[in-house]
Amino acid sequence: MSRKINETFVEVACAGCGRIQRVRASKVIPCDGYTCSWGRCKQNPDFKLPEVPDGWICVHEPYAAGGFSGWTIRPATQDEKRSLERAKAIRNAALIKRLRAN
Ligand SMILES: [Zn+2]
Repeated sequence: MSRKINETFVEVACAGCGRIQRVRASKVIPCDGYTCSWGRCKQNPDFKLPEVPDGWICVHEPYAAGGFSGWTIRPATQDEKRSLERAKAIRNAALIKRLRAN
């Protein structure tokens, strides 16, 4: 394995704690933001990802920038919208069943 000379590095910051990770630009997956752990910040437990508007989804990308995970909030595709509706229907049925059991 050879080392490339003049390789471009970029600095990616955790949105929760500001910790910076220096990684090769070619290894960074473009995302809306990055965190030092999977969808959260290890150092700042109060940090929350931005709210996802109705009809949109939050896509998590593990190791998007070195050890940092990334997230992107985008409009859901038609298939994803149908999947969300099915998931909501299953959740609501479970909640109704639980309420009736009590
Ligand atoms: Zn962090």
